Amino acid sequence: MDIRNTTLIVIGGGPGGYVAAIRAGQLGIPTVLIEGESLGGTCLNVGCIPSKAIIHAATAFEEATHWAGDSKIGIKVSSPAIDLVKTMKWKDGIVTKLTSGVGALLKKNGVQVIKGWATIVDGKTVNVTPTGAGEPTIRVTCEHLLLAAGSDAVELPMMKFGGRVISSTDALALTEVPRTLAVVGAGYIGLELGMAYRKLGAEVHVVEALDRILPAYDDELTKPVRAAIDKSGIQLHLGHVVQGLNDLGDALHVKNAAGESVHLPADKILVAVGRKPHTAGWGLESLMLDMKGRAVKIDGQCRTSMRNVWAIGDLAGEPMLAHRAMAQGEMVAEIIAGKNRHFTPAAIPAVCFTDPEIVVVGLNASEATAAGHEVISAMFPFAANGRAMTLESTDGFVRVVARKDNHLVLGWQAVGKGVSELAAAFSQSLEMGAVLEDVGHTIHAHPTLGEAVQEAALRALGHALHI
Ligand code: FAD
Ligand code: NAD
Repeated sequence: MDIRNTTLIVIGGGPGGYVAAIRAGQLGIPTVLIEGESLGGTCLNVGCIPSKAIIHAATAFEEATHWAGDSKIGIKVSSPAIDLVKTMKWKDGIVTKLTSGVGALLKKNGVQVIKGWATIVDGKTVNVTPTGAGEPTIRVTCEHLLLAAGSDAVELPMMKFGGRVISSTDALALTEVPRTLAVVGAGYIGLELGMAYRKLGAEVHVVEALDRILPAYDDELTKPVRAAIDKSGIQLHLGHVVQGLNDLGDALHVKNAAGESVHLPADKILVAVGRKPHTAGWGLESLMLDMKGRAVKIDGQCRTSMRNVWAIGDLAGEPMLAHRAMAQGEMVAEIIAGKNRHFTPAAIPAVCFTDPEIVVVGLNASEATAAGHEVISAMFPFAANGRAMTLESTDGFVRVVARKDNHLVLGWQAVGKGVSELAAAFSQSLEMGAVLEDVGHTIHAHPTLGEAVQEAALRALGHALHI
């Protein structure tokens, strides 16, 4: 056995783990990062990045198709076609560029990367089975153990992944557009990928157990998304219960609210009913850490219940978002280096890359009221924004929520084409403790969607200019 010693072991090279390791390396902490699959984790390999690449390709294809038909802006295109094999190759190229970039950054910062599967022996010892054939087991001992093993897709017991039942990972590697696609779950993945495959030409059915889409967002925000879904021809089946495959195994059997059976045609069935922390199969149980539901319980510094054992990212539960994992990873490295840090962001932005997109930062009016604030709230519609008109995307709005007494901004919400890029401005205004006057009196470039942010703040103050 190859025996090594270090100060920090990081298990998992996703956005949580690799950012922690890079920062630890920058701070001079001897660090070993263990990754069994591919640097970049879910996010870079089979999550955020590949899904956004496919969404982009699908949107470009849909636009070309749209221009070929009804070209009110004067563009003429003759029957566009999609070569999904080529699209996937292009997507894989982006993934490779990013994951090899992560490898280069780790190397530059002196992090020792071991390609292999880690098994915990105790809070200071980890065995690694290298992925390379014939390589000996490596035992690494450390002072600090950082757990960043991420999450796995939840499976439906009556319909496990395999055959035509696919996970998001499979959906991001299809080589042809399925003629019919049934999606189970109208959450982030179901709608982001369901809408993309609809744009690529599939007949799409989305089945959701609840009576609404995107349960994480409020009704007003999801309304324009719902309208776009209906317009796109996606068949939405809300309040339906999945029974499994039909007897022939070529359709999805669901029951509606009245208990009647419905069979949905499905060359592929994408199951996207959530993700769960990856806690089994690598010796984590042996540490007997305190848990919070299925997740590892952590405090405000990402410490677990065992001294010098830390957990970050999806392994530590909701919100399972890459930027939250990265922020936690950076913080833990700094704490280990002796800095005084706590995980107390003013807000963690959430973006849903449907078409239109949704972005939420901080509290909406009912959440703020429930938290004991007396609030003012105002929205500004993109229908009154010049840039949105030039982009042919006037559906949606920006909404602001602020304290009534001192005008401190408590939250932003927006829905519309391209609003994900407003997340930076929203987050900064909350982190910097902006009041409505700060935003309303900031000169926003014209013509941009950002002017709707300024106008929402002005409207909350009672003097919007362009409505
Ligand atoms: P992960 O990225 O899951 O990384 C964990 C790593 O640990 C993996 O590489 C795994 O191989 C490794 N590992 C696990 N166990 C071991 C072991 N025993 N030994 C060695 N290695 C091990 N989030 C966003 O913020 N924005 C998005 O747009 C977005 N889109 C998404 C789209 C999809 C389709 C999916 C599935 C997820 C998406 N997410 C998105 C969520 C995001 O990918 C995760 O929140 C993020 O990757 C979590 O980072 P992490 O470091 O905690 O874990
Ligand atoms: P999700 O929690 O977003 O949505 C799951 C949906 O499935 C919910 O609407 C739920 O009511 C429904 N559902 C659950 N069981 C069902 C059943 N048996 N039948 C029908 N519907 C059922 O989960 P997801 O879409 O799988 O995504 C997982 C996680 O990945 C997200 O929560 C998020 O943390 C992350 N993610 C983020 C982004 C982003 O930031 N843009 C994109 C994709 C994924």
